[in-house]
Amino acid sequence: MSAAIADQLPDAAGEAHHAGDVVLDIKDLTVAFPTEEGVVRAVSNLSYQARLGRTLAIVGESGSGKSVSSMAVLGLHNMKRTRITGSIKLDGEELVGAPQSTFQRIRSQQVAMVFQDPQSSLHPFYKIGDQIAEAYRTHHKVAKSVARARAVEMLDRVGIPNPQRRAKQYPHEFSGGMRQRAMIALGLVNNPKLLIADEPTTALDVTVQAQILDLINDLRKEFGSGVILITHDLAVVAETADDIVVMYAGRAVEKGAAKEVLAQPSHPYTYGLLQSLPSPTEEQSELKAIQGAPPSLLALPPGCSFHPRCTFKELVGERCWTEVPEWRDAPGLTNRVIRCHLEDPVGVLHADEEAHHHG
Ligand code: SF4
Repeated sequence: MSAAIADQLPDAAGEAHHAGDVVLDIKDLTVAFPTEEGVVRAVSNLSYQARLGRTLAIVGESGSGKSVSSMAVLGLHNMKRTRITGSIKLDGEELVGAPQSTFQRIRSQQVAMVFQDPQSSLHPFYKIGDQIAEAYRTHHKVAKSVARARAVEMLDRVGIPNPQRRAKQYPHEFSGGMRQRAMIALGLVNNPKLLIADEPTTALDVTVQAQILDLINDLRKEFGSGVILITHDLAVVAETADDIVVMYAGRAVEKGAAKEVLAQPSHPYTYGLLQSLPSPTEEQSELKAIQGAPPSLLALPPGCSFHPRCTFKELVGERCWTEVPEWRDAPGLTNRVIRCHLEDPVGVLHADEEAHHHG
């Protein structure tokens, strides 16, 4: 199907998808959990936009808060124990403070979810085809036979061989990769505007990983939905993402076009993540893991949260541990914003890489 036709495809609410439109607009989102030991600041002042027909990667180590905003979009936090402020607009509708009924509608109709563990979305006691057909019938007044045919069509579309026969099987009869495909089919049956994939390939072997990423990519083009890809794996980002948000200790620290950020990082943390990746071109590449560990979200370091691990802080001095960096344009780069006090981050990081390379 051509992209132009995909742009015209109606969603479950009968509206056309227009590539490039903002589908999710998160502004100044803060999510905190009061606990006995103190307040856990899972996400602080987070802002980003996801657009139809594009893939936005949210990247960070575990505990960086990379999954927290999508949980908030889906209403999956325990509302009594969570403090959420700021704004989350899905297709223009404000979700902060919305009732559970709104989130139920969103989860069944507007947003599809793909998690690391497909078991969490597929019911073990119902046949795969029946689950997809039922999800379809929730929003389409059609006969069971029509919904079943649609389920088989979706299984076929996500690359499951013998979809007629497979539709009659239970989740335990599927391999891990096939279950992941079935979950994607279930998620996309109502043509949602947003697909949230949270570490969708982490549990799979490398070949199946690549197939699932290709599939998500193809479906994004065909259905015209926006995709949010949450991952710790920069290799996955390089394969699939258009835009990237790098998170550290509950804050976004760098945002820009994915390929450009990976080619030329301008925040010391992004740089550190990239340095710790094995290089495909150098056989003897020396892996440099970032020293230390992420901080506790109960007691964030003052100033820039990354300062205890940052090897460039001496170039700035005191401000790094006293002042939280505000967003600013990365000098010399277009469409790139960072939270870092370095005067010439690109130059400094480039010089470090050169020294590392030749040293
Ligand atoms: Fe490092 Fe300072 Fe930049 Fe933080 S603000 S990343 S500590 S140089």
